[in-house]
Amino acid sequence: MLTVKDLQDLHGKKVYVRVDFNVPHKGEVISDDNRIRAAIPTIADLLKKGARVILMSHLGKVDWKKLKKGEKTQEDIDGQMKKNDLSIAVSPLKAHLEAALGHEVNVSFSKENRGEGLAKAVAALKDGDVLLAQNTRYLPGEEKNDPELSKEWASLVDVFVMDAFGSAHRAHASTYGVPECLKAEGKPVACGYLVQNEVEKLMRCVEVKDEDRPYVAILGGLKVTDKIQVIDTLLKKCDYIIIGGAMSYTFKKAQGEEIGSSFLDEGALDYAKKCLEEAHGRIILPVDAVVTDSFEPVEGRLIKVIEGNIPEGVEGVDIGPKSAKKFAEIIAKAKMVFWNGPMGVFEQAEFQEGTKAVCEAIRDLSGKAFTVCGGGDSASAVKQFGYKADFSHVSTGGGASLEMIQNDGHLPGVDILK
Ligand code: AMP
Repeated sequence: MLTVKDLQDLHGKKVYVRVDFNVPHKGEVISDDNRIRAAIPTIADLLKKGARVILMSHLGKVDWKKLKKGEKTQEDIDGQMKKNDLSIAVSPLKAHLEAALGHEVNVSFSKENRGEGLAKAVAALKDGDVLLAQNTRYLPGEEKNDPELSKEWASLVDVFVMDAFGSAHRAHASTYGVPECLKAEGKPVACGYLVQNEVEKLMRCVEVKDEDRPYVAILGGLKVTDKIQVIDTLLKKCDYIIIGGAMSYTFKKAQGEEIGSSFLDEGALDYAKKCLEEAHGRIILPVDAVVTDSFEPVEGRLIKVIEGNIPEGVEGVDIGPKSAKKFAEIIAKAKMVFWNGPMGVFEQAEFQEGTKAVCEAIRDLSGKAFTVCGGGDSASAVKQFGYKADFSHVSTGGGASLEMIQNDGHLPGVDILK
């Protein structure tokens, strides 16, 4: 696989860079531009080599069913997107991009992301310029990997660089179709520095060496169904799987325990039973829980710690202190840790302790083990609680890092570059 480093003189060359600028935002206000900053090493390197850089990213999800019939022009779509807060234009990202690039770079924005408007904007670029194009998901063909769209995008450029690890598990037009077309024409396709680093770090969790054992996976978050395949794979690769968060109640129920009104992924009960049988004690579940009678933070709500069965009327929202201790003891023995999913509703101060306890246990492994936080909500928690520097690697892709483990190191957006 080529990397940006391998790309030599790029003067006069137009380079399509798929970045992941899917930043946290409220309306048009961006609360964290880390994802933009994370792509700068790749962009800066391309600019240094004289390239004309075209940046493509998605931002948010587009619910096409919500769009009114007949509203098909770009302006209609823009208006609808804003009104329903379905997704936003990437235009507000331009200012953050300019600041991150250091203001000497000429950055333009194209509100068209295909057709004559985009072609003109690309043609106007000079060596060392950057063009940020509109949200790729404003085009229905993007997520369908529409061959016409891929062909059109590919026809505008000479080189493709993939630096959107968070989207590498999606075979969309901008992540898969474009490099496929360019490869067929013998044009270079490469990965950016961010993707290269992610792949190198995560492959260690996929191809497990003896010196990295015991290998402990920690899973949390909401739905068992979403993580089914990864549990299967992790059972084969890991020595222990610690399960906390909402998904642990499905396992508790499968073991015959009462879980009150805790979150239950009913369709995954049989699967959970099968996993527990196959694991022969290697799946570690919580022994106590922080429960509440109101998920909403209303005054006077009941919050207490319960061991064993959870009665009706209350729900588990965090692991309890005994579970935190038990989990920490297992983590302390690990030579490698992969963590995806918070231990509780960490967004509420009252239910953060379990997730913090896991952060602390991993911090205590600093210098002694290889520790990975697999992105998504757990990465947000790690950053929020100030433990990012204690991890060997914090991934930028929650779904992508899980799928990479699940598919033995394969992701469509990376495989197509090979
Ligand atoms: P996921 O996207 O699957 O990683 O799920 C993350 C979400 O799970 C976060 O928003 C947490 O608040 C939520 N979560 C974790 N534990 C619980 C729980 N015990 N009950 C309800 N939600 C939870």
